[in-house]
Amino acid sequence: MALRCQGLVKHYGDVKAVDGIDLHGRPGECLGLLGPNGAGKTTTVEILEGLTIPDAGQVEVLGLKWGTGHDRQIRERIGVQLQETRLSDKLTVRETLRLFRSFYASGRQPTDVIAMLGLQEKTDARLGHLSGGQKQRVALACALVGDPEILFLDEPTTGLDPQARLRIWEVVETFRQGGGTALLTTHYMDEAARLCDRVAVIDHGRVIALDTPAALIASLGGGQILEFTVDAQLETAMLEGLAGVTAAALQGDGSWQLTISEGPQALSGLIAALDSQSVQLEELVTHQATLEDVFIHLTGRNLRDG
Ligand code: ATP
Repeated sequence: MALRCQGLVKHYGDVKAVDGIDLHGRPGECLGLLGPNGAGKTTTVEILEGLTIPDAGQVEVLGLKWGTGHDRQIRERIGVQLQETRLSDKLTVRETLRLFRSFYASGRQPTDVIAMLGLQEKTDARLGHLSGGQKQRVALACALVGDPEILFLDEPTTGLDPQARLRIWEVVETFRQGGGTALLTTHYMDEAARLCDRVAVIDHGRVIALDTPAALIASLGGGQILEFTVDAQLETAMLEGLAGVTAAALQGDGSWQLTISEGPQALSGLIAALDSQSVQLEELVTHQATLEDVFIHLTGRNLRDG
């Protein structure tokens, strides 16, 4: 196993940032930590990276434990992209990569990682002159220049435009296909679904679900979601009793969300039920179930609500 942790706990004062997390990452696997702001993703990753000491729990990185005389050895074999990497604006891209390369006994050529991230034209540009997306790519290049076996990425694409996100996704996919283990935190469900072999859904410092994106979505019991709002109160049991409906949940904004296995049957049943209770339908949309729906189903909240 490339990465393993068990029973991780970390408090900050009264806040239980991490509340008993067990995870493992295999070689060639991209493991995602998906959850809202404040769920404890960054704290978990920082513990695995050896940057934060947990109050309790065990961590093994490439079979080694932090703080037991192997830290230097572990650092040689991992690459870290922090949520906000503060690099020197005065250095050029090439100088920055040379500096990071010097931290490792062996690794990749700076020019190779610059090309990998599509930054050739910016090789001699100072970081202060780069866009946010380009700086993120430099940060990922720095994480890759030591040719790591494990890559830690904390929200690698937050705030990036779609093209820059795609470039980063491609680099992570290539890394994984080469046998590397990637641990990625994100609050983008599409990123988790696209990149991750398995996703741990994190909420309030705990893993509340862990599986492949497809299995998590299948656990909803239906591939389609029907969301609607009405002008009156409804009973969950009434909605869950409708043919073709596998689950019903009232969301924080007052709208209902139904997980449905039989679209037409569920829709006609819902309309008939509302009609019979003289309830007015105000809005109705359907979509394919996503990891966001999994999160709503598990917590009753949207990922973006935090
Ligand atoms: P985000 O997506 O916003 O980074 P997250 O899921 O990564 O969220 P963490 O950053 O791990 O969550 O934070 C978990 C909880 O611990 C939050 O309530 C946060 O305010 C608190 N916390 C994190 N780091 C510290 C710190 N250094 N001091 C005090 N509280 C902290």
